[in-house]
Amino acid sequence: MTAIILLGPPGAGKGTQARLLVEARGMVQLSTGDMLREAQASGTEMGKRVADVMARGELVTDEIVIGLIREKLSAGLEGGVIFDGFPRTLAQADALGALLAEMGLRLDTVIEMRVNDDALVARITARSTCGGCGEVYNDITKPIPADGQCAICGATTFNRRADDNEDSLRQRLMEYYKKTSPLIGYYYAKGQLQAVDGLGEIDVVAEAISSILDQAKSDPLSP
Ligand code: AMP
Repeated sequence: MTAIILLGPPGAGKGTQARLLVEARGMVQLSTGDMLREAQASGTEMGKRVADVMARGELVTDEIVIGLIREKLSAGLEGGVIFDGFPRTLAQADALGALLAEMGLRLDTVIEMRVNDDALVARITARSTCGGCGEVYNDITKPIPADGQCAICGATTFNRRADDNEDSLRQRLMEYYKKTSPLIGYYYAKGQLQAVDGLGEIDVVAEAISSILDQAKSDPLSP
């Protein structure tokens, strides 16, 4: 089984690229952000507890997100798995390593998506997602079709995330640099880090990621 991490600041394009990998390779996207938003939308206790933290752009506790990932990893993930937005702290990275080892798996590669902060602000404040299928649109680079229907599923409702505003984004970037960016050194030291330029066209970035995956050697112990 292939297991990869997409690592990068908010707005780097992790979700967009993960969705393309799901389509092209039948991999499973494990986005802790999506899981937390689902918990909020369905009104669970946990969802209510994390709502304010997320709206402010802070990280929720390691315990919560590790629990979510542990649950998902027990399901069938034969096509391979993309960790999107997880891990975000060193404690989460250690926990993921231990979880994968328990399952006799290891990480194939960690792909760092590099972008500059100015591009992130522009991308995030222009971002919306389809209410039907989650396809990501951008007012400037990939606008919602003129007929108002999602190009993928035809839905006509589009959402902007509560935390896609400049204040929350500033906080999310701060959290990224303080708590998540140390993972770049962590995985580099393990010989697992590869970087792509996240500023290119979506297709160009997708090709760069694809060729990294094609080269990545699977653990011979993996099923
Ligand atoms: P995302 O959709 O990945 O941008 O995540 C949205 C928000 O969910 C983040 O700003 C955090 O508040 C929370 N979140 C998502 N993943 C994690 C994680 N691995 N650790 C802590 N908080 C997370």
